[in-house]
Amino acid sequence: MSEEKRHDGRKPNDLRPIEIKLGVNKNADGSCLLTWGKNVVLATVHGPKQMFPKHLSNPSKAVIDYKYRMACISTPERKSPVPGKRDKEISLVSGNALESAIMVEQFPNTVIEINTLIFTADAGTRVAALTAASLAAADAGLPMKGLISSVAGGRSNKQLVLDLDKQEEDAPDAVDLACAMLMPQKEIALLQMDGFVDIKETKEILKNTVKGIETVYDMQKKALIEKYPLEGEINE
Ligand code: UDP
Repeated sequence: MSEEKRHDGRKPNDLRPIEIKLGVNKNADGSCLLTWGKNVVLATVHGPKQMFPKHLSNPSKAVIDYKYRMACISTPERKSPVPGKRDKEISLVSGNALESAIMVEQFPNTVIEINTLIFTADAGTRVAALTAASLAAADAGLPMKGLISSVAGGRSNKQLVLDLDKQEEDAPDAVDLACAMLMPQKEIALLQMDGFVDIKETKEILKNTVKGIETVYDMQKKALIEKYPLEGEINE
């Protein structure tokens, strides 16, 4: 396996630069603006609030209404604002992943609306959106069992790499494995893969991806602690 530098200068297991800003949308209960390489995503959380129509509510837990959307300006070619199959599928599996982190059983008959909007896309947008959404939920003060941290790993041009950008994802041999984990429990909450790969390489890709997830989790914690200092630190 070659260990060549990537087209943007990264080493195989480097993530793109990640910047996190919390509480950027004053109309929401919680929000996060995440820049991940060239990806830019805003995640907002509204709720828990009463669900309409009422028959869609659940008497034993809050319903997570997660929306993943790409802005029409997010791609080089104008993207239709009408959500397609891809947006709906990503919304469904991401909402399920986030539900494993939020203590939904504390809010029966309500809905928690989570909107993620991709302003600029350069591959890895579903994992960026989910990472931002988890932070927005924490920013909203929702009781959580942990954070959802998410990264994609894979293969591009015969090299196993972490956090593929669009150019790498477009390689003829590309494999893209998106993974989200409930942290710090390290439970897999989402796992999706495109491309053809044997079991040995799949295991290696997953191992690299989990390491990336640990790094993302550390960044998420740092951002939350910076905005919400621990009591001990306030008194210092
Ligand atoms: N993309 C696009 N138009 C689309 C869907 C995707 O230009 O309708 C681009 C966009 O840059 C996206 C990338 O293709 O980030 C990879 O898409 P994929 O479906 O693999 O999802 P992602 O990696 O962003 O989670």
